[in-house]
Amino acid sequence: MTHVSSRARTSSTTVRAAVWRSPRSPLSIEDVWLADPACGEVGVRVVATAICGSDLAYVDGHWESESPAVFGHEAAGVVDRLGPGVTDLAVGDRVVVTLIRSCGSCRRCMAGAPVGCSGRFALDECGPLRDALGSEIWQGLGVAAFAEAVTIHRSQVVRVGSEIDLDVAALLSCGVLAGVGAVRNTARVAPGSFVVVLGAGGVGLNVVQGARMAGAAEVVAVDPDQRRLAAALRLGASAAVAIGDDVLDEVRAVTKGEMADYVFVATAAISAIETGFDLLARMGTLVLVGMPPSGARVSLDPVTVASAGQRILGSKMGAGRPARDIPALVALYQEGQLELDGLITGRFALDEIGEALGSARRGDALRNVIMMEESLVA
Ligand SMILES: [Zn+2]
Ligand SMILES: [Zn+2]
Repeated sequence: MTHVSSRARTSSTTVRAAVWRSPRSPLSIEDVWLADPACGEVGVRVVATAICGSDLAYVDGHWESESPAVFGHEAAGVVDRLGPGVTDLAVGDRVVVTLIRSCGSCRRCMAGAPVGCSGRFALDECGPLRDALGSEIWQGLGVAAFAEAVTIHRSQVVRVGSEIDLDVAALLSCGVLAGVGAVRNTARVAPGSFVVVLGAGGVGLNVVQGARMAGAAEVVAVDPDQRRLAAALRLGASAAVAIGDDVLDEVRAVTKGEMADYVFVATAAISAIETGFDLLARMGTLVLVGMPPSGARVSLDPVTVASAGQRILGSKMGAGRPARDIPALVALYQEGQLELDGLITGRFALDEIGEALGSARRGDALRNVIMMEESLVA
């Protein structure tokens, strides 16, 4: 079953958006045309969009992109327009917005893996954004939430209650889902495990939280940045190792010579993947979470992997099922098990997005959040 509509996108409204044209020029804040939702689609007034590493990878040209484009995908807001056929949401519903667009009827969706959906959507054929002259602007990552509003597929929103603020809820849609999901869904870490997390950024810190909640015996965070290591310890790491220290010796000491049952690579650095193999115990599992630049290659020793019974798993968006996982994450937040508020470093207005991206690029921030209403910028 496909979801391609031939209906022309006729009605639209103008919204302010941060438009990207090349890695060499700053984002420009422009009035762009946003199409109203068609069949099976939803319009959301964006309240908050966090800056994720993937946004930076596109903005800085590490990953290829169509141009012009609007990025931003870790978002939350309020439903303000409903396309025909959407009957299970109402205008005014508070929602988390994700990049996981799923048809519900392809093989992967039927198997409970919407992140692998192979469905085709009208939004893929004909994006909702046009510039002032009518030329198409790419809907980056299928969301384009560095903007006051988005038009997305129904499957990309999950309703949340008033128990969680929307700037905090935005984090659930990518960094937290990807990190906690890598532990719970992809690797299914068993209680008592020895876990190493390479990279303590926006996703790695949530791997740390996930491993702690899964009952890991040791959670070792490895990162070059002392501030991130301090955050990892706060979020439940049992040890923090700065790159430059002998990571192998540190992990050997913490695991009493056993080495790691699970190594999560939550950084884009290729060298971390090779380090990850060296840290693995027999029967250990290497989980690839971070995404290196396009075209990167890594070498591995197949004899060791096979003879030691090791596994290598890719974790796309934490193998997340948003409709199931986001409410579960909200519940963990309410119970005080999942820390979210402390993950936000700064709040910025849309006009200040250049500054917010710069701070994220320098590693100054755990997460910076763009607040679409300037009155909400603290
Ligand atoms: Zn992301
Ligand atoms: Zn599907």
